[in-house]
Amino acid sequence: MRIAFLGLGHMGLPMALNLQRAGHDVTGFDVFTGAREAADAAGLTTVGKATDAVAGAEAVITMFQSGQQVIDAYRGSADDPGLLEAAASGTLFIDSSTIAVDDARAAHALAEAAGQRSVDAPVSGGVVGAENATLAFMVGGSDDDFAAAQPLLESMGRRVVHCGGAGLGQAAKVCNNMILAVSQIAVAEAFVVGERLGLEHQALFDVVSNASGQCWAITVNCPVPGPVPTSPANRDFQPGFAGALMNKDLGLAEQAVALTGVDARMGMLAREIYARFAEGPGAGQDFSGIINTIRGESA
Ligand code: NAD
Repeated sequence: MRIAFLGLGHMGLPMALNLQRAGHDVTGFDVFTGAREAADAAGLTTVGKATDAVAGAEAVITMFQSGQQVIDAYRGSADDPGLLEAAASGTLFIDSSTIAVDDARAAHALAEAAGQRSVDAPVSGGVVGAENATLAFMVGGSDDDFAAAQPLLESMGRRVVHCGGAGLGQAAKVCNNMILAVSQIAVAEAFVVGERLGLEHQALFDVVSNASGQCWAITVNCPVPGPVPTSPANRDFQPGFAGALMNKDLGLAEQAVALTGVDARMGMLAREIYARFAEGPGAGQDFSGIINTIRGESA
């Protein structure tokens, strides 16, 4: 398939390369010249204008930082035709950026009004997942558009779940990350309480990882060195999943909570805790580094 891939950053470039490896004809574009140069060096064909990438493409994939970037690029400006206008009618637009549910729905509406097909397809799995084509995709859109997107997503990931209509891929992503934030804090608090009671890290891990407190935050991302040798705690909290990205995703969770009026006290407390964490060095650390904040703020 002829694919335009826009947004060749940490995630986008390895994803575009995996599509190319799967045999697709991929043309890349990024507004940042350095990203285009890195893509060229990695063997991806790039062009200097978004509209040149999109012309003749059967699918357009975007992997940007924010919802505003997606909407602006779809819509274009007075002197620049947007992606939706530049593409042939009926082109499949796949947005894999992590953005607010509201923004995703607005992007779908713009696409529909322009006669284009669209899915929101945010990912989890990070840069390692993008490089190894092991991402998980959470997809929102019609059955037909999901069916058209699925084979492309399977070239970049291992798990592709159709979550429902427009915006529901983003809804699933935001719900997952709210659970993750709350559970990572809960695990860190428990380890600090255990430490102060004289409980060995390994003993607490052996119990909890096989008991009802078991969750990813302990079995994969254990916040103390030792029990899970691959967890970021063993390498001074180098990410992994950086505090800045968790903070971003919890900002989207906050928007979803405001939109729905849900009494999500735990999620919103986690949002506050990670906002403070990301103001300091936590921004560049794995989010499990919150354990050091808890130690530092304990009596
Ligand atoms: P990044 O900042 O490395 O890359 C985004 C790229 O998009 C940048 O190179 C930027 O120049 C480009 N861009 C912005 N507007 C553009 C436009 N109009 N046209 C072309 N290019 C444009 O970000 P990333 O780490 O690759 O993350 C991308 C998305 O994936 C984000 O929404 C992020 O929240 C999400 N995500 C990231 C991770 C991760 O571990 N990095 C994990 C899961 C999800």
